[in-house]
Amino acid sequence: MPQTAEASTAPLPPHTVRPTAVAGFLLVHVAAVVGVAVLGFSWKGVALCVASYTLRMFAITAGFHRYFSHRSFRLARVPQFLLALLGQTAAQKGVLWWASNHRHHHKYSDRPEDIHSPVQNGFWWSHIGWILSGLYDETDFSRIPDLAKYPELRWLNRNQYGATLIYALGLYLAFGWTGLIYGYFLSTVLLWHGTFTINSLMHLFGRRVFPTADQSRNSMLFALITMGEGWHNNHHYYPSSAAQGFRWWQVDASFYLLWLGEKIGVVKGLRRAPSLAVTQALALARSKLEVTVETSSQAMDDDPLAQLTARWEALGDAARVTAHQALADLEAARQRAAQRLDALQTDYAAALARAETAASQRLDELKAEIEKTRRELYDTLVRLVNVAESLSLSSAVPA
Ligand SMILES: [Zn+2]
Ligand SMILES: [Zn+2]
Repeated sequence: MPQTAEASTAPLPPHTVRPTAVAGFLLVHVAAVVGVAVLGFSWKGVALCVASYTLRMFAITAGFHRYFSHRSFRLARVPQFLLALLGQTAAQKGVLWWASNHRHHHKYSDRPEDIHSPVQNGFWWSHIGWILSGLYDETDFSRIPDLAKYPELRWLNRNQYGATLIYALGLYLAFGWTGLIYGYFLSTVLLWHGTFTINSLMHLFGRRVFPTADQSRNSMLFALITMGEGWHNNHHYYPSSAAQGFRWWQVDASFYLLWLGEKIGVVKGLRRAPSLAVTQALALARSKLEVTVETSSQAMDDDPLAQLTARWEALGDAARVTAHQALADLEAARQRAAQRLDALQTDYAAALARAETAASQRLDELKAEIEKTRRELYDTLVRLVNVAESLSLSSAVPA
C-alpha cells in the first residue's frame, strides 16, 4: 500500500544551525561591542541608538506584524511600500518572508508544527535557532496571497539586505563612526533580541489572562521594550486587533502612533479589540461553537473526514494511474468540495472575529453551510474510496 499521506505529517527536521549564519549573526554582535568599546560612551551615540531602535521597532511591530501579518488596518499603496522598506532596515529578512512565517506561527502556535515554539523546541530554538537553521529560508507565498500580488513587495522581499545596507551607509555618512556603531550595529542587535523575545520569552514568562490554545503571555516590561508587543496573550487571543493593550494601563506605543496616523488620515480602518464584556461573551460563544464545528486540527485527527482524506491520499496514487474517467470526475468534485470547505472555514473564522453584534445569525448560516459542505465532501470521499478500492482490487497496479 503506498504511504504518500505521510509526507505532509513528517516530524520537523533535526534542530541544527548553519555555521556561516551563526558567524554572520555573531559578527554583528562583535561589531557592536568592540565598536562601542573603541569609541567610548557618548550621549550622542545613545540618542542615535534609541532613535534608530524606536523608528525600526515601530516598522516591525506596526508594519511587519500588525499590518503585513495581520492586516489590522489599511494603508494606501505608497505608505504600504514605505513601511515595508523601513521594516527591512531592521535586518529581519524580507517583509513577505516575515509575514508568511508569522501567519504560520498563529496557525500552529505551540503545537509541533510551530516553527518557533519554546514549548516544543526550547528557548534558543524559538529565539534565534530557527532563523539560523536555514530550514525556513524560503518564503511560502501560499500563506500571503493578499501581499504577494504586489510586485514592489516581492521585489523588496527578494532584495532582503538592500534597505538595511543603505540605512547603515546613511548613518555612517550622516554621523560618522558613532552613527554606524551606535545607530546601526548596537541598535540592530538590541532590535533583534527585542523582537525575538516575543517568539521566545513571551511564550514562557508572564501572565496568562485569556485561555488561548497556546502558551502566550502578557508582560508590562516587554510591552515597554517592544512598543506594545509584550501583551502577547492578548494578541494571540485577538490577533486581528491593531491594539495589543486591551486596558487603559496596558501601554502600547505602536498603537498610539497608529492612532495618530489615523487622526492625520494615513491609517484607515484601525481595528480594535471589542470591550471586555463582549470579549468574554465571545469566548463563551466560541467554546460552545467549537463543540459542533471542529476547527482545530487536533479535533480533525479523529474526524471521519480527515481519516477518509488520508485514506484517499494513500489509495489515490495507485488508483490514479488507471486514469478511470469516473475516478477523475470524483477527484474533481472532491477538490471543489475541499476548496469550498477551506474557504468557508476561513470565512467562518473571520466572521467569528467580527462577531461583536450580529454574529450569531451569520455564524449559524455559515455553520449550517459548513456542515452541508462537509456532508457533501464526506459522500464524495466515500464514493471515491469505494471506486478506488474496487479498482485496485480489479486491476493490477504498477509498482
Ligand atoms: Zn506568539
Ligand atoms: Zn501576531
